[in-house]
Amino acid sequence: MPCLMIRLYGIVQGVGFRPFVSRTADSLGIVGTVANKGSYVEIFAKADAQTLERFVHIVKNETPERAVVISADVRQTDDIEFTSFDIIESEKESGDIFVSPDIATCDKCRQELFDPGDRRYLHPFINCTQCGPRLTILDFMPYDRERTTMNDFPMCEKCAYEYTHAHTRRYDAQPVCCNDCGPQVYIAGRDIKGADAITLARKSIMNGSIIAVKGIGGFHLCCDAANEQAVSRLRKLKNRPAKPFAVMMRDMQTLERECEVKPGQQEFLTGYQKPILLLEKKQGRLAPSISPDNPSVGVMLPYAPLQMLLFDYPDAVQMTDCLVMTSGNVSGAPICRNDEDAQEQIGAYCDLILSHDRRILIRADDSVMDWFDGKPYMIRRSRGFAPLPVMVSKKARLQSLAIGGELKNTFCIGKNELLYLSSYIGDMADIRTVYALRESVGRMQELLETRAEKCVCDMHPKYNTVTVAQETGLPLVRLQHHYAHILSCMAENDCDEKLIGVSFDGTGYGTDGTIWGGEILLCDTHGFEHSGSIKPFRQVGGDASSKEGWRIAVQLIRDSFGDDAQLVCEKLSLCDKKTFRLQSVMADKGINTVTSTSAGRLFDAVSAILGIRRSSTFEGESSMCLEFAAERFEKQQAECEKTAVRIDGSGFETIDTTSLAGEIARRFIDGEAADKLAFVFHTSLADGIVKCCESISRKTGVKKCALSGGVFQNKLLLRLTKQQLEALGFEVLIHSLVPANDGGIALGQAYYALCNTDNDK
Ligand code: ZN
Ligand code: ZN
Ligand code: FE
Repeated sequence: MPCLMIRLYGIVQGVGFRPFVSRTADSLGIVGTVANKGSYVEIFAKADAQTLERFVHIVKNETPERAVVISADVRQTDDIEFTSFDIIESEKESGDIFVSPDIATCDKCRQELFDPGDRRYLHPFINCTQCGPRLTILDFMPYDRERTTMNDFPMCEKCAYEYTHAHTRRYDAQPVCCNDCGPQVYIAGRDIKGADAITLARKSIMNGSIIAVKGIGGFHLCCDAANEQAVSRLRKLKNRPAKPFAVMMRDMQTLERECEVKPGQQEFLTGYQKPILLLEKKQGRLAPSISPDNPSVGVMLPYAPLQMLLFDYPDAVQMTDCLVMTSGNVSGAPICRNDEDAQEQIGAYCDLILSHDRRILIRADDSVMDWFDGKPYMIRRSRGFAPLPVMVSKKARLQSLAIGGELKNTFCIGKNELLYLSSYIGDMADIRTVYALRESVGRMQELLETRAEKCVCDMHPKYNTVTVAQETGLPLVRLQHHYAHILSCMAENDCDEKLIGVSFDGTGYGTDGTIWGGEILLCDTHGFEHSGSIKPFRQVGGDASSKEGWRIAVQLIRDSFGDDAQLVCEKLSLCDKKTFRLQSVMADKGINTVTSTSAGRLFDAVSAILGIRRSSTFEGESSMCLEFAAERFEKQQAECEKTAVRIDGSGFETIDTTSLAGEIARRFIDGEAADKLAFVFHTSLADGIVKCCESISRKTGVKKCALSGGVFQNKLLLRLTKQQLEALGFEVLIHSLVPANDGGIALGQAYYALCNTDNDK
């Protein structure tokens, strides 16, 4: 009888793949074995040729829900004696490795969770082959129970039976456990466990308390999202006056009561990844300070059994159906993942800590996505998505480590044609985040069995990530920030052609030592030409100017109005005479002043000019409010006159944003509405970008553009720019599952390494 050796590559670990193979073989009367080899699954199958053909078709194409077979290698082998079909112990082999992200609790487990007749009734850690934690509890590959933190909990007889028997829903489910043998929940620092702990947590929430809850990838801070007092208290404690809080809704019905759900969004809300989705708010029950002055709110559905129990435990507590679930961290620091961190760092923000004894090895914040053009538009790619690799057509010779940017840091490991973008690490200004980065890099390299041969980092001389990169001792490639943004968009779209990159963001270190941020780059995967930018302005006040848009506004007004500038600034309530003079002296003498083309700062400045936000309490607040104002206007009025943007016609294209800001100020003083002018600003800037691309295209013949950088989280600017470019015959690449912001930088860096391994070997 013929015997085949089949190797399947892809996401075939921790998703019930081996049990599926075993069931399929049994049903076809095939004998042989299946083993998990770490990077692939290896099957030996013996039967008649026709049956084998069917078998191969099924294991390749009719895989379990969460599995993805990326490639298959099928060969005839020598005849081997088999009497049955067995799953055999894993023996590790090296190769491409796919680590499954964590999977939200499935519907069947949810049913069992609330079924009094089930032996896992109310078990806060219920999971099955199709669902449960993966990446966050994994120590090393291949994915097997003893290599996860579930190794701390020996299985009881019943669980062990399910784990080893193919006809059960938990066959080969590594984190399988039950009320008898699984982890336990408790109140940290107090002798309260299990049901009592959950009931106390629920009671506390309903009394208006704030609690910390240990989840899948870290702690959340949680309170009743309908209780204004509790929410505003959390704001005070966290010193977070306005940045929106994410809300977990009990179910889809609650969610639809509070938010507008567009076609396609429900699939993501209820799917197995359960990200936070930014949706338009309705007039519902949410406390006003959940997302003040913001038309949308970030919402998600429960994805862990403990969260479901918080909403629906059968005790006497009358429970809310919407909970604030914001990352349990100190602003900028990584999310807390154990009791010590939680007590030390967020203990002061909450009244009690609902924890449990299953260890979290790798942190995973909730992923956050916006929506654009009927598709997801990622803001933070983490739980449920990381570390799924981005696959490109090119293949690298060397393995690389891309260390990412300084804000919203993620890192990326490149191996062959795969770019494994990590989960969200955080802002590197906090030293704890730097430690977290070092640890995660080590852990991921081990998990993916990679050994980087070179390292890519940013050009900025003072970034902490650059220090981490230097510590690796690897040959370093320093890559310009805005070029890395465009490369990340190219990698996501698997593009290896020359294109015009529109890279608009907050700030990045330019090749000329100035601050860049509104750049047009003619790029391919080997390098770029700096072809244009917005008009440089002076940024006075160092770090302060990144939050205080009025400072930038003052300089733009000075550049536009000359002698009248001081009067204009006063009319716009930007600053008084004395402050104006101080700002002018500093700028003219170059004291604490840098030259900048930051598009993010330009938005902040216009926001200040229009009296929308003089300064920001969180990154992007002023620009976001400017966008909201423009969108408000657009909703009311379809047609709108535009301001022409003048462009200097030289080799280097300058978008004259200074004149634009001046024009906006003039018209505002003349009495035009702020919302309208906010819209005019957006359309004019889009015009400027498009004209700039057109001009470069005329000179070079390039008809492709990529839009990246944090400013393109602004969906109005994104839409206006993309539509106009497309109308002119450009092909426009944008992001979808990789963030346009600095969370995507590492992917761009890794793509550069992948495309340039031959040159510097
Ligand atoms: Zn399940
Ligand atoms: Zn058990
Ligand atoms: Fe950036």
